[in-house]
Amino acid sequence: MRCAYHPDYFVPLPPSHPFPMAKYPLLHERLLRDGLVGPRDVLEPGEACLEELRLVHTDAYLGQLAAGTLDAAAVRRIGVPWSPALWRRSRLAAQGTLLAARAALEDGIAANLAGGTHHAFPGHGEGFCVLNDVAVAIRVLQRDGRARRALVIDLDVHQGNGTAAIFEGDASVFTFSMHGERNYPTRKMRSTLDVGLADGLGDEGYLSLLQRHLDTILGEFVPEVVFYLAGVDPALGDRYGRLALTDEGLRRRERYVLDACVSRGLPVAITIAGGYAPTPARTAELHALVFEEAASLTGQGGSRHPAIG
Ligand SMILES: [Zn+2]
Repeated sequence: MRCAYHPDYFVPLPPSHPFPMAKYPLLHERLLRDGLVGPRDVLEPGEACLEELRLVHTDAYLGQLAAGTLDAAAVRRIGVPWSPALWRRSRLAAQGTLLAARAALEDGIAANLAGGTHHAFPGHGEGFCVLNDVAVAIRVLQRDGRARRALVIDLDVHQGNGTAAIFEGDASVFTFSMHGERNYPTRKMRSTLDVGLADGLGDEGYLSLLQRHLDTILGEFVPEVVFYLAGVDPALGDRYGRLALTDEGLRRRERYVLDACVSRGLPVAITIAGGYAPTPARTAELHALVFEEAASLTGQGGSRHPAIG
């Protein structure tokens, strides 16, 4: 399975910062070590160009990001200190999701080992999200005539408020968000379908809701490409999640989503989105589940079954 990754996805943050930046290199190492991704399957993104980012984001916001002139309130809202490295990282990750989407259109499944920054709006970032990579990728694919109808399956535990706002009223993009109803963001935007979950929900309740809603969506809407935000913050013990999925529950979730897409012949681009387990290593382990399930579904195990070419 081809995966986009760049070492500069990692940006050093102050030691006390809650964002687990180390999960990106840890996940990359883990997938290579276990042969879930072969060295030749890694796609290295460049920085997404302004022309593409402008398909979603405002010139004013992009100008402030480029020049480092966001005001203190805007930086606080993002929750990660601005730096040239953060700006570069945000553009690399946006390009990574676009590369994953193009690879998925060719291969069936592909991934970005970052992305899913769904709290980014056209004119501001929030909740650790600077650029809305999935929205940019959808707009670029539409512009290029590569795919018109897109489905966003957002299973990060937080509502995809930025994505919902960007595509509200746009019938070409179906946004599906399943999230903690009482969790961040306090003010929810309107997705095509929002499923708000009660605090403490466990495997069976979560999986039955997912199955019911996703089956209905796929019966009514036929996308040309699917973006899956496989956030692992619904996991039991997540610092921000407030749900209670076990590892096995998450694994079943990943299998169900991927199988629902692949069995219908729908290309699926995976982004990893959020995850705040007690350690970055544990977070990376949880993110690895979707790659294990993708490998078992496609029969591709990276170096165990080297890709041709
Ligand atoms: Zn989240």
